[in-house]
Amino acid sequence: MNRIVERFSFRGVEYQLRLTFCNKPKCKSCPHGPYWYGLISLGGARQTLRYVGRTLRGPVAEEYARTAKESDWRAP
Ligand SMILES: [Zn+2]
Repeated sequence: MNRIVERFSFRGVEYQLRLTFCNKPKCKSCPHGPYWYGLISLGGARQTLRYVGRTLRGPVAEEYARTAKESDWRAP
């Protein structure tokens, strides 16, 4: 089970920051993450999910920092 705590789009990819619940009965560290994933459209209803990592890098990270700043300005 996953919970998406953040998402934004960049160059046709939807980046999602997800917390993962593994549902193992003995797990004491749930939820895991958050980790970034990229949801890539393959045309039509087909999509693929790529694991990105704990942090974003390069132009994606710059875009995320920029959009996060913009939403701060909109907040009252
Ligand atoms: Zn777990």
